[in-house]
Amino acid sequence: MLKDKVAVVTGASRGIGKSISLALARQGAKIVAVDVTLKGMDELLAEIKSLGSEGIAVEGNVTVTADTETMIEKAVAAYGRVDILVNNAGITRDGLLMRMKDEDWDAVLTVNLKGAFLCTRAASKVMTKQRFGRIINIASVVGQMGNAGQANYCASKAGLMGLTRSNARELAKRNITVNAVAPGFIVSDMTEALPDKVKQEMAAQIPLERFGTADDIANAVVFLATDASAYITGQVLAVNGGMYM
Ligand code: NAP
Repeated sequence: MLKDKVAVVTGASRGIGKSISLALARQGAKIVAVDVTLKGMDELLAEIKSLGSEGIAVEGNVTVTADTETMIEKAVAAYGRVDILVNNAGITRDGLLMRMKDEDWDAVLTVNLKGAFLCTRAASKVMTKQRFGRIINIASVVGQMGNAGQANYCASKAGLMGLTRSNARELAKRNITVNAVAPGFIVSDMTEALPDKVKQEMAAQIPLERFGTADDIANAVVFLATDASAYITGQVLAVNGGMYM
């Protein structure tokens, strides 16, 4: 379905970004896997190869303008184009509002929101020339419903949804769609570390009675990257087991 397409995925070395990279590769896309360090990238590239596709790893920080331009340049140098951009890199620095440090607010907004803006700006120049692009931003259910102790994270993810809608309007005439996926609670390093009692309380809020998997998110990204979603832009696709409707 994505043969001859080139996908840049940020935060690709582990977690949801890794699953997204593998799911896109499974559909035939060539993967430009970006992360702050190259740790885990050899393994990822080998898995991509075993799926019958290929990829390159690029060390880059989504908060550094020059890095975002370089990652797109490297994609074009390797494969001649950039069809899909997945803004997945994200961090948390949780804390109650009254105790939240300025630097924790700034770090989360800078990676989660400014990082997506910088990568999108760099990629959109190439996509505009191609008259084709699929940009997919990984938001979060808590950007829609809020969460105590995550003012910075929720604000960044709500901002990402606004960025999605604005960029969708601006880029539509160039045949570039921009959508977001809003995951609910996903089995990950982050959620694995929680005490069992907290996990049970979280699962009780989910009508489908389970945490999501990284593959649940990757499947939604694949849909938004293929022609099956060609008439969908500016939308937030909730993949949350029904916990927020
Ligand atoms: P993760 O396991 O922490 O992976 C995030 C990846 O992004 C890591 O490889 C990390 O690198 C990388 N990264 C962090 N800062 C970066 C930067 N400045 N430049 C480039 N790469 C950077 O997170 P995840 O759970 O897979 O989450 C992926 C996305 O889904 C995030 O946007 C997150 O907010 C969103 N999400 C997750 C959940 C969930 O339950 N897990 C729910 C809703 C939304 P390092 O390894 O060096 O840290």
